[in-house]
Amino acid sequence: MKRIGLLTSGGDAPGMNACIRAVVRTALYFGMDVYGIQRGYQGLIDDDMIPMQMRSVSNIVQRGGTMLMTARCLEMLTKDGQEKAVKTLKNRKIDGLVVIGGDGSFRGAKCLSEDYGIPTIGIPGTIDNDLAYTDYTLGFDTAVNTCLDVINKLRDTMTSHERISVVEVMGRHCGDIALYAGIASGAEIIIVPEVPIDMEDIIMRINRSRVDGKRSNIILLAEGVCTADEFSKRLQSVTAYSVRSTVIGHIQRGGSPTMADRMLAAQFGNKAVRLLNDGIGDRVVGIRKNEIIDMDIIEAVSMKKKFNYELYQTLQMISM
Ligand code: ATP
Repeated sequence: MKRIGLLTSGGDAPGMNACIRAVVRTALYFGMDVYGIQRGYQGLIDDDMIPMQMRSVSNIVQRGGTMLMTARCLEMLTKDGQEKAVKTLKNRKIDGLVVIGGDGSFRGAKCLSEDYGIPTIGIPGTIDNDLAYTDYTLGFDTAVNTCLDVINKLRDTMTSHERISVVEVMGRHCGDIALYAGIASGAEIIIVPEVPIDMEDIIMRINRSRVDGKRSNIILLAEGVCTADEFSKRLQSVTAYSVRSTVIGHIQRGGSPTMADRMLAAQFGNKAVRLLNDGIGDRVVGIRKNEIIDMDIIEAVSMKKKFNYELYQTLQMISM
């Protein structure tokens, strides 16, 4: 393979820049040309791309966001848009593509490889950790650490005022951010889309903790359930303790990537280009049981994410 393209698509995630760097430098190592396609699939359709050199990716390993920018591109969902994207690749003589993004971005990648025969490798880049085939996605660790920082601060003020804090975190339909941030912050309760709300149990746990001498409670609410305001109102109507709601919001999507995300970025990016260099396409890379893996892209997008009930029970047992 002589020339590859690279794009970031969907929601941005910390570590995307570090991954761009790894892809570009591995490709240059193998003597390939690399084009950085701007604004995801929109840039592919519009032929908006820049040649990437060694120095194009200097000083970005520590930066959040994506230097290639990202977009949600509705045109890519249409046959016409897809054909334009393929035409750009053919005109540019790009014979392989790396797509860094989430579930939707992978569906675009699958379409390019399955329907048009473009060798494509997907790299999981999303804070949501909602892809079934990989234990972790790029950006998840940083996002959870950002939540921890906010929760630590909220705990201070909630304890002073003896309040209950309802904290809304991201994750779309996946409760992993709430689950991991909940365990790591010592939140008493998490509410996730995968487990039905048990209001009686929530009240019982709050009351028991207060009898036990606790002066505040943190409830982590995944955005896929409802808004923090909605849940706070519901809770306030059945408890005498004062309830406050906080939405962490887009702060979760920014910031310097953690060591864990930079390591994933380096390994995912490197693996993706190694596969293309070996003439292998139509794969996604990921991590399972601490090992970097690759698998068929069609299989990967059809897998259903399983919620980690064991971790959920761990939280139930140790957070009181
Ligand atoms: P995140 O998980 O962070 O939201 P994502 O990759 O899942 O990231 P989406 O908005 O779902 O984000 O998808 C990104 C882009 O991928 C879409 O805007 C669209 O251009 C493309 N895409 C999504 N689904 C398809 C599909 N079925 N066929 C072709 N392209 C698609």
